Amino acid sequence: MSVLGQVADGAKSILKGLRVTLSYLFRKKVTLQYPEERPKLSERFRGVPALPIDPATGRDRCIACSACARVCPDQVITVTPEVGEDKKRRLADMTLDVAGCIFCGLCVEVCPTGALVLSDEFELAHSSREDLVLGLEKLHEIGGQFPEKTAETEESSGAQGEPQGTTPQAEAAKEPEA
Ligand code: SF4
Ligand code: SF4
Repeated sequence: MSVLGQVADGAKSILKGLRVTLSYLFRKKVTLQYPEERPKLSERFRGVPALPIDPATGRDRCIACSACARVCPDQVITVTPEVGEDKKRRLADMTLDVAGCIFCGLCVEVCPTGALVLSDEFELAHSSREDLVLGLEKLHEIGGQFPEKTAETEESSGAQGEPQGTTPQAEAAKEPEA
């Protein structure tokens, strides 16, 4: 191929590449200036499971039944119960190792009181694995950031702070009888 032909070939390749680039200039942008711009998540987005505080009682709705811990396929939830002054069992502590969570939502489905919600939290970058083990305080904090998720759970489960019936998953998660 002559030098002229090679130059023509090169120019053709450049124009072909630029044609693709230019065509994207006029299309709708799909990138965001993250973190300044936040993505719009779908309504059914599955983020970190969290434990919101119920404004009516000032406590979370957990009754420490451990159904969520039993149903979790990755066994990343621990529930520590205690007995309150009213002799009712309640939650003393909970941890969730989000490093192992697959966001399946089973823990939320089996929760008989609507205490757990799948939040919109997805920013999970940490410098150590230990930081990914979320304690009760952090679960409350994340739960408080997404009040609309709590409202959805209330609507779908009819939860009012006491157990409101069961689901097939809740039945499956019940402690086996001795
Ligand atoms: S979303 Fe699934 S994997 Fe994550 S804690 Fe709940 S049950 Fe376990
Ligand atoms: S299933 Fe719900 S009520 Fe039972 S321990 Fe888990 S969060 Fe608490």
